[in-house]
Amino acid sequence: MSADPNCIFCKIVAGQIPSKKVHEDEQVLAFHDIHPWAPVHVLIIPKLHIATLADVGPEHDALLGHMLGLAPRLMKQLGVTNGFRTLINTGPDGLQEVYHLHMHVMGGPRPWSKG
Ligand code: AMP
Ligand code: ZN
Repeated sequence: MSADPNCIFCKIVAGQIPSKKVHEDEQVLAFHDIHPWAPVHVLIIPKLHIATLADVGPEHDALLGHMLGLAPRLMKQLGVTNGFRTLINTGPDGLQEVYHLHMHVMGGPRPWSKG
């Protein structure tokens, strides 16, 4: 499925819901999390609707590599110089809330509110 009309992140990709974008290219979008845990907290999402990391196949390897490879570049761009965390919550036991694949990337000086 390329887009799910009921999915909040598909609506962000389509520009139907505003977001504070930090990066956009053909494959992915990155924007600031609305409830940040850390001074810098961005989400990197594929433009394609993939519900969870458990739904990816080998055809998504390049996309996943692109998402992970983008993380350090975005942190550098946003002034994060002392390390960061990357996190993908998957499914109910993974405490996933939004069912459109996304990678959290969090950095900035501690203490953080969570994580
Ligand atoms: P999770 O599915 O548990 O990995 O977390 C979903 C994340 O999406 C949470 O950190 C939310 O704060 C974030 N979030 C939900 N809606 C929006 C939105 N409209 N814009 C930015 N971040 C959002
Ligand atoms: Zn979606």
